Amino acid sequence: MGADAEGESVQVFVRVRPHNSDELRQGTSESCVKPHGTRGISCCDSRGSKSYTFDQVLFDTCQQDVFEVAGMPMVDNVMAGYNSSIFAYGQTGAGKTYTMLGNISNGPGGPHENGHDQLGYNCKCSMLEIYNESITDLLVPSATNLHIREDLQKGCFVDGLTDELVANVDEVMALMRRGAEHRHTGETRMNRESSRSHSVFTCIVEKSSKGGSGGVTSVICSRLNLIDLAGSERVRSGGMGGSQVQGEHFKETVKINQSLTTLGRVITELVDSQRRGSGRSKHIPYRDSRLTFLLQDSLGGNAKTMIIANISPSSLNAAETSSTLAFVQRAKCIRNKATINLDYRGDVAALHQEILRLNSELDNLR
Ligand code: ADP
Ligand code: MG
Repeated sequence: MGADAEGESVQVFVRVRPHNSDELRQGTSESCVKPHGTRGISCCDSRGSKSYTFDQVLFDTCQQDVFEVAGMPMVDNVMAGYNSSIFAYGQTGAGKTYTMLGNISNGPGGPHENGHDQLGYNCKCSMLEIYNESITDLLVPSATNLHIREDLQKGCFVDGLTDELVANVDEVMALMRRGAEHRHTGETRMNRESSRSHSVFTCIVEKSSKGGSGGVTSVICSRLNLIDLAGSERVRSGGMGGSQVQGEHFKETVKINQSLTTLGRVITELVDSQRRGSGRSKHIPYRDSRLTFLLQDSLGGNAKTMIIANISPSSLNAAETSSTLAFVQRAKCIRNKATINLDYRGDVAALHQEILRLNSELDNLR
């Protein structure tokens, strides 16, 4: 991760999943991608071959490997007091949810040996879904159409979103699974596809230490966001082996993807303005979608951000794979400025009493 006075660039990892049975059945195990060392990848589509370099390219990796190279450093960042976000990007079926959650029924396959150990700090989790620009609480799915509010100290937050205290890693995983199940049942009940929704799992970590005098406490409060984005497939195809999207359905798709299209625009505008050194003055359209409004800190602001681009290796998906790689190559140029979120909280009531006492002492002296 390159750090300098200008900030730190967004990290991009690419994860290539194995060919699936559909791809193999449709006739070919031919790959459209080739690794070049640990950081390089080339992709061959109908327009030719193109090479890219990322922070790391993960071929044939298990959940544990992904956690070690991508997840663990981000957890360390959060524990050090930095807000951190991991976005999973890619076409439907490329492995975004698998990367974020593992195989839901068989467990995450990530870090889990000492899942019962107490965390040793306060940790609260929430999980929401953005579908068609409407926000639903995935822990309490009856709470829908929630609003984003802005607070000078807290930044952007979702008003009325439930957060639950967790005591250990197992409880974090249980909440994630519950949220994912609600995403799934909502999808079936409402006859829609999870591939069109974004989910955001957030862990807020609060570590306090008593120090100094007057009951002043320093508090480190940071958050980890895990964002499972909607499928990035362009409107012309309906996902892996999907059909044409036309007419009314086309309009709906465009609206549903407002958050994803705005994400693309925000990245383009941001990279452009940062390149020209006009980051502060240029208007970046964060407010044009729920996703970018809520996560603006992760895009050019106070956060450490990682994108995991998930791709299929099959030559059947070459066009989408190539567009995913091009998208994240652009995103790689975003620079963030993460700072440790340290806050000093005094015992305000006690300090107020002390001021009153000193004032009356002064009055007595006069
Ligand atoms: P997405 O969330 O991007 O639509 P999923 O994560 O649901 O895609 O993955 C689609 C299918 O591929 C799932 O059945 C999943 O279990 C499988 N899969 C995805 N990535 C991997 C991987 N790295 N190894 C094995 N199977 C995978
Ligand atoms: Mg998914």
